[in-house]
Amino acid sequence: MASFPPINPVYPSPPEWLQESASHVWLPYAQMQTVPMTLPAVKTEGVRITLEDGRELIDGVSSWWTAAHGYNHPHIRDAVTKQLEQMPHIMLGGFAHEPAFRLAKRLADILPGDLNHTFFSESGSVSVEIAMKIAVQYWINQGARGRHHFVSFRGGYHGDTLGTMAVCDPDEGMHTLFKGVIPEHLLTDIPRGAEGEAAFDQFLKTHAHEVAAVVMEPLVQGAGGMIFHPPETLQIIRRCCDRHNVLLIVDEIFTGFGRTGTLFACHQADIVPDIMTLSKALTGGTMALATTTARAHVFEAFLSDDPGKALMHGPTYTGNPLACAAANAALDLFEKEPRLEQAARIEAQLKRELEPARAVKGVQDVRVLGAIGVIEVDDLKDTEWLKRRFIEEGVWVRPFANIIYTTPPLVIEEADLRTLTDAVLRVLAEWAQK
Ligand SMILES: *Cc1c(COP(=O)(O)O)cnc(C)c1O
Repeated sequence: MASFPPINPVYPSPPEWLQESASHVWLPYAQMQTVPMTLPAVKTEGVRITLEDGRELIDGVSSWWTAAHGYNHPHIRDAVTKQLEQMPHIMLGGFAHEPAFRLAKRLADILPGDLNHTFFSESGSVSVEIAMKIAVQYWINQGARGRHHFVSFRGGYHGDTLGTMAVCDPDEGMHTLFKGVIPEHLLTDIPRGAEGEAAFDQFLKTHAHEVAAVVMEPLVQGAGGMIFHPPETLQIIRRCCDRHNVLLIVDEIFTGFGRTGTLFACHQADIVPDIMTLSKALTGGTMALATTTARAHVFEAFLSDDPGKALMHGPTYTGNPLACAAANAALDLFEKEPRLEQAARIEAQLKRELEPARAVKGVQDVRVLGAIGVIEVDDLKDTEWLKRRFIEEGVWVRPFANIIYTTPPLVIEEADLRTLTDAVLRVLAEWAQK
């Protein structure tokens, strides 16, 4: 066995607390024998992460797409501090409190159509599990039997729990490794154009009797490799679901809150899903919170004199007041500060500054939507080398699959974004020589 912890090439002398406890934290998506570059962070402010040795990194990832308003935004911090002093938590089973109820009402006001009924949880995966559970019970409550399968798309990602793994892309969801453990659902290609619509329509027609819902990420399949599709695709899927009486779950956990240029990606296609999930930027990267919001007709299928028709779900921390206070404050910022204009400026700048990457050997595609910039390559070759070079350049960029991408905080200034794109192009040029 190799020595543990391994020497960290970008942080050769970690602080004592990290040396002593390296193996005690089982890190996400990491082969722990070689876990190479875990950086001790001590402070975040705006778009910057400060390391224990004083180095600063410009965050090109927004901490997994959460920190839309930059870190430590004073408005969010004040709201959470105030809530912390008054009431950090109370169970929602039996009690109501203003942060959760106000937040649910505000979401109803800004979400498309009659998406008016919100269930709170603490992680994106769980919010998708809840959406799936609602969809299955929606049919059971109406006496329809056997409708417990889901249709999902190649390239999709909806979480890491056992239930959501089953609706992820088979490679991403590791369907082979977990064969026989996770249920098998119906996987198909995301429809594009008239031909795509015909094929998808036929697919749904064949399977509708066994399907509870179609699950999809709108406009961008994020963790599956930042794959884009046009708004028309959402309209096609909505139309086919209507035609064959199947529910549509739209997972806006990544795309929600300005990332694609509009507050929600659904706005660009002018469609209303039956159930929508949100998380990531919901609290601006401050607290763990996720929501599952249903339309009126879905909610009403659970209203009955029969207690057995209620939604039997209740995470311990559901509607946590601190998290809801953070989310309310984050929503204020979309009203008070020009986030969507900032997203549009980021889009224009990314389009300009990433374009030269197209000429680099090994680059397959350069694409930008809202505050998402993607360089797709034939093969990343050495991901660890790339990560190290970005850290040396003073930026935090985390390539995966076959892409180098950036999703900066929406508040990033032009000069900081240029530093980020310059670093990406410089490292990419070196990478092409490898
Ligand atoms: C991140 C993500 C999830 C899972 O959210 P977690 O909070 O990591 O459980 C689900 N769906 C999409 C589209 C995501 O981007």
